[in-house]
Amino acid sequence: VSKAKELIAGIDLGGTKIQTVVLDGGGEVKGQSRHPTPTTGGPDDVIAAMAGAVTEACAEAGIEPSDLAVVGVGSPGAVDGKEGTVSSALNLPDWAGTVPMGPKLTELLGPPAFIGNDVQVATEAEFTSGAGKPYDSILGVFWGTGVGGGLILDGKPWLGRGSAGEIGHMVIRRGGAKCPCGRRGCMEAYSGRKAMEIKAREEVAAGKKTDLFNIMEEHHKDRLTSGIWDRAVEHGDDMALALMERAVKALAAGIASAVNLLDIEAVILGGGLGVRFGDRYLPRIQSRMHRHLFKDDDPPAMHVAALGDLGGAIGAAQLGARGISG
Ligand SMILES: [Zn+2]
Repeated sequence: VSKAKELIAGIDLGGTKIQTVVLDGGGEVKGQSRHPTPTTGGPDDVIAAMAGAVTEACAEAGIEPSDLAVVGVGSPGAVDGKEGTVSSALNLPDWAGTVPMGPKLTELLGPPAFIGNDVQVATEAEFTSGAGKPYDSILGVFWGTGVGGGLILDGKPWLGRGSAGEIGHMVIRRGGAKCPCGRRGCMEAYSGRKAMEIKAREEVAAGKKTDLFNIMEEHHKDRLTSGIWDRAVEHGDDMALALMERAVKALAAGIASAVNLLDIEAVILGGGLGVRFGDRYLPRIQSRMHRHLFKDDDPPAMHVAALGDLGGAIGAAQLGARGISG
């Protein structure tokens, strides 16, 4: 076994971006890359972009993709880890049916590829090497394009029958706002970046004013990224502030409901919006949660994800490492 074969790659496939890392045997980041997730085309275009991002991270690490021991992926949607397939990935373009992501990546890159749920691998990374380290039971809440959740209970991942942790689809208002999942009143319908953008576009169409879309154009983006929301909030844009407040109230209700059910020790807030706004908005989420907590004199600890933007990709690499070690 050559030295390069100790290197592993991790891909965090999000609705907005593809973040990759190449780690050495000691877990040190040797290369990384970040690309926007294709918004048009279909699964083959997304998988080609993933392979391209890995190739770029490998170049930074001074190796070829074929030198990698393994590739791990954290993917949205319903993941079959054994088959390496992904279905129902609503935030990816034209993702119909069941897509053999693992086999296709191996075809393009060479090394074996293991697929896990994006939020679950990010939660496990926070649990083993991030903000969740001191605890036995945590809830990871990933506030980004959608709102995902991951669970570690008594030191073990809780996957349910495969789809546990969908905190974004906790119903916080019966008959409420339309969610990207097609149902109504989900937390994500108020808090997810995609849903927030749809709401902002509706308000503009109804004649309300905002700088959100001007800032988007100035920065040559085709969607309201977390960075655009950040700039608008810092400029005191009324619509951006109101929609953020609406998102925070929904997050607080959903997270408090999950805490009431599970009584976990800590909640870790990650994701594109969570990492960017965590320090500013976590205290607001906590105070908003208070009124919904059954045991309000003893709330769980709350932290922003310590691995930041790289957490998902690091977790994916760890999943790959576990995959080849059997
Ligand atoms: Zn939903």
